[in-house]
Amino acid sequence: MRTNKRLALVISFLLISFSISAQKSSLSYTVKMENPEWHFFHVSLSCKGIKKEFIDFKMPAWTPGYYQKMDYAKNLQRLKATDAAGRELKWEKTSDNTWRVLSKNADVINLSYEIKTERAFVASPYVDETRGYVLPAGVFLYIDKLINHPVQVRIVPAEKWNRVATGLDSIPGKRFTYKAADFDVLYDSPFLAGNLEELHPFYIRGIKHRFIGYKLGDFDKDQFIVDLKRIVDAAVNIIGHIPYKNYTFIAIGPGPGGIEHLNSTTFGFNGTNLKNRDGYIRTLHFLAHEYFHHYNVKRIRPIELGPFDYDKGNRTNMLWISEGLSVYYEYLVVRRAGVSTDGELLNALRGNILAFENKPGKRFQTLQQASYETWSDGPFGRTGDEVNKTISYYDKGPVVGMLFDFKIRQVTNNKKSLDDVMRYLYKEYYQKRKRGFTEEELRAAFENVAGVPMAEEYEYVTTTRELDYPTYFTYAGLRIDTTTKILSTAYAGFTLRNKEDTVFVAEVDYESPAWNSGLRRGHRVKWINGKKASVLLLDKTITDASPGDKITLTLYVNDSTKNTDFILERKKDRPFIIATMGDPEPLQKQILESWLKG
Ligand SMILES: [Zn+2]
Repeated sequence: MRTNKRLALVISFLLISFSISAQKSSLSYTVKMENPEWHFFHVSLSCKGIKKEFIDFKMPAWTPGYYQKMDYAKNLQRLKATDAAGRELKWEKTSDNTWRVLSKNADVINLSYEIKTERAFVASPYVDETRGYVLPAGVFLYIDKLINHPVQVRIVPAEKWNRVATGLDSIPGKRFTYKAADFDVLYDSPFLAGNLEELHPFYIRGIKHRFIGYKLGDFDKDQFIVDLKRIVDAAVNIIGHIPYKNYTFIAIGPGPGGIEHLNSTTFGFNGTNLKNRDGYIRTLHFLAHEYFHHYNVKRIRPIELGPFDYDKGNRTNMLWISEGLSVYYEYLVVRRAGVSTDGELLNALRGNILAFENKPGKRFQTLQQASYETWSDGPFGRTGDEVNKTISYYDKGPVVGMLFDFKIRQVTNNKKSLDDVMRYLYKEYYQKRKRGFTEEELRAAFENVAGVPMAEEYEYVTTTRELDYPTYFTYAGLRIDTTTKILSTAYAGFTLRNKEDTVFVAEVDYESPAWNSGLRRGHRVKWINGKKASVLLLDKTITDASPGDKITLTLYVNDSTKNTDFILERKKDRPFIIATMGDPEPLQKQILESWLKG
């Protein structure tokens, strides 16, 4: 065997110089929360071996998993930079989120600053007398161009707090001290400090899973852990591989929202919601969603979602996969775990169908556009417009996912399913190619698994074409009622709200009688049929009226008033009730069974 000595020399030289520079430079953070009632973290950074004329320290503008600009930089205050001798170094702001420290080749630079916190929310750092939630993207500065540098973090909880929860590896022998291979990992590993409660850990395929949090509340914790374990097991069974060494569910206290991470999830949680069946299933769906994300988005991911651009954010047309299919799988996983019933699964999907079908946005925005525009429209689509011209990929995404799944099962004689597509994407792009997939690669994955073109199904993604539910539901031996029912009750199509002494139009349904008469959101209403307008009066007027009756509104227009009237129609309803067929063919029966049971 011939070797190229020169090349070997160059390589060994490179390896040596890399290992020297890796040894030489270090970044270690300490986060203190000495007076938590003042709502700020005190952060210090010891930065060694990065000798430069100046160093640009940057704060991310957003946090992965929450696709909105958060402007964390505005919370940073009292920045001070010093060298090893304690001499102060000058700094200047060079952009909204960049602090340039004139380090003049100093070997050691110490930074200290405060992070002011305002709102207890899963995408914001927060500290008060009860707990400290360190959302890393809002607390730790990275060095421009050195995002890949390893980093250490020591958390010093407030006095009397006994625990820190995080997905990061701790450094043995050092209290509450952790290491991250780079800042991408750090930004994906929040910390929760406080007097936390930990439930019984459980093991799946020998790997430890923990549930730990602040103010968990009173509920049947043993049963909850039994069910959560089944859910994690059902999710793992879909992909067939666990990519992490341990996993932590971190409950940050009552409140909305959750964010997925590489080997943890942080989420608002209130155990009292688990006392009724509905709240129990909803909470477990939510946790299954966040958990399933460690596959779908953290590892099975659109190519645009990595490496992250912490300044600008990363736009992609494929959040309908990352979010929409995570909703779809949250229902399937909880059902396959044996925790929810068939009826609860179908009802959850029906909820998404109703939410999607009842918004005019379905005529204006495609799933791809909703994915791309989430940064401007918000995670659930835009609100506050005269007409809602946006959709939510949380509603249409799971429904389209189900149609894709049923189609694949039908054309492959139930030999393949959406699960095969997910497994393929995991193996091919995450494990083998170590990157995300493009739109073309995603489509090819669907079509290769199905073995047929999926042009029609793809139109549900790229256009606003009406979803043909009955065809796809039939594949699984399910019936869905898509007819429009004409009810005998009267319908006007608008709502009112009171603000101090004034009554405003709150919402107007698109193309309703009220809409067609020119009534719009924000109009000020004086009278309804000559009587002083109120929310109650409108309710009573519509309840007492019959279709065909006229309603007259007197509106304030500038300094005078104007009458507008319209004829009430019959209320319409599309209930989208889903039921199983009485006499399914063998294939339909098989598809339904394997879809439900996995
Ligand atoms: Zn999600």
